[in-house]
Amino acid sequence: MQKKIEEIRKSQGKLLVKNVKYSWDNIPYYKQKMKEAGLKPEDIKGLEDIHKLPFLSKADLRYHYPYGLIATPLDNVVRFHSSSGTTGIPTVVPYTKRDIELWAELNKRCLETVGATHKDIVQVSYGYGLFTGGLGLHYGAERLGAAVIPTSSGNTMRQIKILKDMKTTTLACTPSYALMLSEVIKSNEMKVDELSLKRGVFGAEPWSENMRKRIEKGLGLEAFDIYGLTELCGPGVGIECSEHNGLHTWSDHFIVETIDKDGNKTDVDGEGKGELVFTTLQREAMPVLRYRTKDLSWITWEECACGLLHPRIGRITGRSDDMLIVRGVNVFPSQIEEVLMELKGVGDHYQIIVDRDILDKLMIKVEVTNEIFSDSISELISLEKEIKKRLFEMLSLSVDVELVEPGQIPRPEGKAKRVIDLRKDM
Ligand SMILES: [Zn+2]
Repeated sequence: MQKKIEEIRKSQGKLLVKNVKYSWDNIPYYKQKMKEAGLKPEDIKGLEDIHKLPFLSKADLRYHYPYGLIATPLDNVVRFHSSSGTTGIPTVVPYTKRDIELWAELNKRCLETVGATHKDIVQVSYGYGLFTGGLGLHYGAERLGAAVIPTSSGNTMRQIKILKDMKTTTLACTPSYALMLSEVIKSNEMKVDELSLKRGVFGAEPWSENMRKRIEKGLGLEAFDIYGLTELCGPGVGIECSEHNGLHTWSDHFIVETIDKDGNKTDVDGEGKGELVFTTLQREAMPVLRYRTKDLSWITWEECACGLLHPRIGRITGRSDDMLIVRGVNVFPSQIEEVLMELKGVGDHYQIIVDRDILDKLMIKVEVTNEIFSDSISELISLEKEIKKRLFEMLSLSVDVELVEPGQIPRPEGKAKRVIDLRKDM
């Protein structure tokens, strides 16, 4: 077994060397970054040299929006996907024909790993469009030879009718949408055994083990966590096997590392906790070398009972920066601050509280100014409404707002602790 793993790592090294040369030749910015680090392609001789390479971050990708990091002529690009760009500049990801084929292959593998075959009926309830979820799973399921029902997200009653009438066996969507489907099914007094679901492939947001239990019970299926990032291709980077002991990441397509906050490797001997860093090995249109994901996890090459030799990463438990993911929506505290601070009547202090009942709940506690506090109650009510409305416009998320009198929110002695995420204990 150890010998086989060594062989895998050796071939990862070979692909890395090739990819470094390819990136040097085709992405001027990457060449510049390597030069700044005092590196030439020939300095990277194998996997053992990967730590010499500079990191790439989301900021690099944004800075070169939209076409700056494309390694192929635009003529060879057949598809673009993009991040939502909620904080400003979106991340644009190009694909060549081969990239699309390999992406489909990765998603096919993921579906196979969770036990799906050509006999399955796969309902893809991820959004279709710039978001990678819908089309990623769609292509993977088609490649598997399964029957795909491309429902996309939304229209819950129709989704449920299709689940039931068309005897869907495999559901792919975000975990919060899966939970919502199960709640609607329950409130319509439908029984779970009216459905034919066997498994669900859920991802694009972190979700707890408690949520898994609720989804499995509510939909009568086995729930699997799938991992991916737009910058790496989309879904299909990693998937849980039936052991549910982490997510296998495809070693012939990605090198995974973990680093600490200072960028030092923490995966010495193949294990360690930290921020996940990915290097793509086969992408043509936009290879990424040592891309910092901000996702916190661990890696292991330990043998898995399922027999797959691909290394496993742990389920994502948090982000290394301050971004909150609330019901699958990326929320930056700075966005909230932006909304609050432009409104007359809002004081200088506020807190963002995230909790999880069944779904995530976002609550903002806002101190009002003395002036408005001594005004009529109707002023306060209309301020509360205005904050809710503006936050909804910005985040597409309903937010609970509690207005409090001046002095109610603790003043920080050092750095303000404005975000309280109560979900972390789950
Ligand atoms: Zn396994």
